[in-house]
Amino acid sequence: MNIICFVLAGLVFISGLFIHAESAIQQTVQYLIFVIASVFLCTGFIITSIYQLMDNFNKNNTHAQSSHYNKESDVLDNLHKAVVEKSNASDTWTCKKCGCVNPDTASQCKDCGEYK
Ligand SMILES: [Zn+2]
Repeated sequence: MNIICFVLAGLVFISGLFIHAESAIQQTVQYLIFVIASVFLCTGFIITSIYQLMDNFNKNNTHAQSSHYNKESDVLDNLHKAVVEKSNASDTWTCKKCGCVNPDTASQCKDCGEYK
C-alpha cells in the first residue's frame, strides 16, 4: 500500500515534468500535479509509519499474551508440584479396620493384620 503511494507519487511527478508549461493554465496544471505528487509521497510516509506502529503494537500484544500465558502455566506448575509433594509426604496408610497408621512399605496392618 505504501509502495503504491510512492510509485504513484513518482509517476505523477514525472508526468508533471513532461508537461510543457507555456500557458498560465498549463503552469497551474503542472503546479497541481506536483502538489498531488507530494501528497502521495506524504501519504506513503504516513502509511509506512502507521504500519510500523501497528507492527510494534502487535509485537507488544503478543509479548503480553505470552507472558500472561507463562504466568498461568507457572501457577499450574506450582499446583502440580504441591500435589506431588503432598502425595510423596504421605508415606503411611491408615487401617480401615482398626484405624492404626502403618508405613507405606507394609502391605498388612501391624496391629490386626488387615490388608491395605
Ligand atoms: Zn488394623
